[in-house]
Amino acid sequence: TTSSIDLKQYIRGIPDFPKPGILFYDISTLMRNADAWQIAMGRLTAAVAPWSVDMLAAIESRGFLTAAPLASRLGCGLVMLRKPGKLPGQTISYDYDLEYGTDSLHIQADAIVPGQRVVVMDDLLATGGTLAASIALLRKVGAEVVGAATLIELRSLGGRDRLDVPVKTLVAYD
Ligand code: IMP
Repeated sequence: TTSSIDLKQYIRGIPDFPKPGILFYDISTLMRNADAWQIAMGRLTAAVAPWSVDMLAAIESRGFLTAAPLASRLGCGLVMLRKPGKLPGQTISYDYDLEYGTDSLHIQADAIVPGQRVVVMDDLLATGGTLAASIALLRKVGAEVVGAATLIELRSLGGRDRLDVPVKTLVAYD
């Protein structure tokens, strides 16, 4: 049955990408398989639906791939959190620290009606820095952030403990 399928067999780890010493978990092989991708989206939908979501917030760029099919299944809206210079119209931004330097995420200023229940989505949770910044940005525009969800979690990095919202992930690596 589909409930016993281990999605790990569809995710590959590519050594030394994008830099030497990094093992990059690649969801391309999961998305390429129609049945596996369908199962993954079904499981994410079941995990997120109990939060009664008004809006999914998708982190550029692989978060777009997970959030768009989920919004369609949940029957909720979808907003993009993007790198600088990508979104038209007035935007609100949040700056955050990286290992080397800083980065910034933007949202359209009118994207969220204050108080809307928002779940933020990405492909993978590592240190949690990207999701933490996204949550801070969403709160800045008045969202009630009710959860975060990703396909993959790198558990030993403790990202989940950096986040003050409930987190759902489908596949975990140590
Ligand atoms: P964090 O901010 O340290 O949690 O890193 C998560 C962000 O980096 C997400 O936006 C991921 O897409 C990306 N990322 C980090 N490691 C990987 C990986 O192994 N595969 C795919 N994306 C990754």
